[in-house]
Amino acid sequence: MVGAGQLARMTYQAGISLGISLKLLAERPDDGAALVASDVELGSPDSYDALSSFASSCDVTTFDHELVNAEHLRSLERDGHCIRPSADVVALVQNKRSMRERLDRLGFPVPPYRAVSGLAELLAFAERHGWPTVGKSIRGGYDGRGVWVLEGPDAAESLVQTASGAGIDLLVEAFVPIERELAIVVARRPGGQAVAYPLVETVQRNGICHELLVPARVSPVLAEQARDLGLAIAEAIGVVGILAVELFVAKGRLLVNELAARPHNSGHFSIEGCQTSQFENHLRAVLDWPLGSTDLLAQAVATVNVLGGTESVEPLDQLPEVLSDPGVRIHLYGKQARPGRKLGHVTVLAADLESALSRARRTAAGLVRSSAVEVAS
Ligand code: ADP
Repeated sequence: MVGAGQLARMTYQAGISLGISLKLLAERPDDGAALVASDVELGSPDSYDALSSFASSCDVTTFDHELVNAEHLRSLERDGHCIRPSADVVALVQNKRSMRERLDRLGFPVPPYRAVSGLAELLAFAERHGWPTVGKSIRGGYDGRGVWVLEGPDAAESLVQTASGAGIDLLVEAFVPIERELAIVVARRPGGQAVAYPLVETVQRNGICHELLVPARVSPVLAEQARDLGLAIAEAIGVVGILAVELFVAKGRLLVNELAARPHNSGHFSIEGCQTSQFENHLRAVLDWPLGSTDLLAQAVATVNVLGGTESVEPLDQLPEVLSDPGVRIHLYGKQARPGRKLGHVTVLAADLESALSRARRTAAGLVRSSAVEVAS
């Protein structure tokens, strides 16, 4: 696996029980997964030599992020390396413009959008679709970095200036009046066998995913449409491994926001919540092995991300206290605490969503807040 963040760390954990030796290409020895894996190569995913020597030592090469040069992956494929998902799929998901254009062409519902090369084009788009409008960096954005809600022409002008100074290519899209955000996570094998996870409702704040609620609070008809959409997109782009399809619900209809061709934050509930986790199914899929059941193991599952707070509290130190709720399942990623950084997540299975969510929230908050402050507030 290229990349050694928390996704690689949890994939590694899934590999242990299957007896798979997952080798990692890590940028730094203290990357979350490099801290726990036994077979780690240090190297940059931007370097062709590093990728090539890494791929040569693996049966299959897969990824925990999409920030890899797709041309390098194409040459590795030409040299006979097994790259899953393929270079074409990686190229697609790392570029918001290609993603929108491809999905649009295939007839999947996406918000109105346009790649813009200057202020005039951006303003013309906003004239047509109304303010606010949303500017997005075509490449490299994550956790809302690279997404800007523009209230009017002044904001647009300053974004265009900053972007051209920083060499950022921009896409503009209509501001969607989002009723809910959802994600459908699919695992697909090379031959086409695919399974979908139960539909997840994601709660985002400032572009960062905070909470996952399963089952999503939508009608069975909409849930079925989301599932069909996820499976159809996975098939249409020929993904191998996990595909997460982020969706907006607006005016009762589904719109596709983003694709990620790797295990994804929105599938973390599956570790305890489903028969087979997204991490295990990612490994099975890229190895072309039969996929495991995605059946839900409880009526309701809630996952709450642990985000670094403003206090310098080390989540590990809070564990003894928060573990007093015996039903909570805690994952810490081995990362240094910084405000807003995803440090871990907490999952609770329960008979109803409210109680799962309130227990998961309490635990996640307790991990980043010292108890002295909790008493004082
Ligand atoms: P990233 O790649 O950084 O995760 P996204 O494109 O997923 O960025 O956007 C992050 C969040 O910003 C979304 O989850 C949503 O809450 C909000 N957002 C994105 N696009 C739009 C839009 N067109 N209209 C309204 N809100 C949006």
